[in-house]
Amino acid sequence: MAGKIKNCPVCGKLYNEIGRKMCPDCFDKQTEKEDEVVAYVRENKGAKIPEIIEATGAPESLIKRLIREGRFEQIGIKMTYPCEKCGEPIIMGKLCQSCQDKIKKDLQHTQAKFVAANPAPKQEPAAQSKGKGMYSLKRS
Ligand SMILES: [Zn+2]
Ligand SMILES: [Zn+2]
Repeated sequence: MAGKIKNCPVCGKLYNEIGRKMCPDCFDKQTEKEDEVVAYVRENKGAKIPEIIEATGAPESLIKRLIREGRFEQIGIKMTYPCEKCGEPIIMGKLCQSCQDKIKKDLQHTQAKFVAANPAPKQEPAAQSKGKGMYSLKRS
């Protein structure tokens, strides 16, 4: 196997990269930690992320990744983490759906403002008034 020799980002040791982001030692340790987190959540249903961090010493990023990977769903537990903006429980990405929608809307608003500040030369008036009030938000 032709792997590259790299420095492990966790412990700094040189290792032969074979499709892994860290050395075998750290990979094993991480796998152990993941199992520990999953086991902890199985035994402490409803545990919140800060509790899990305190109990297992696992970094938040690891727990979030396990949530995204559906590791807790596999054991029949719905785990979430808070939206970075409003704190709503989510299982993917960084923001909840409504914050994502809001950002999208703000962006459209900014774009609309830009268009208003830079009007295209000579537009048919119909094209300007059209759409106002007829615009309906599609909920996904
Ligand atoms: Zn390492
Ligand atoms: Zn949110």
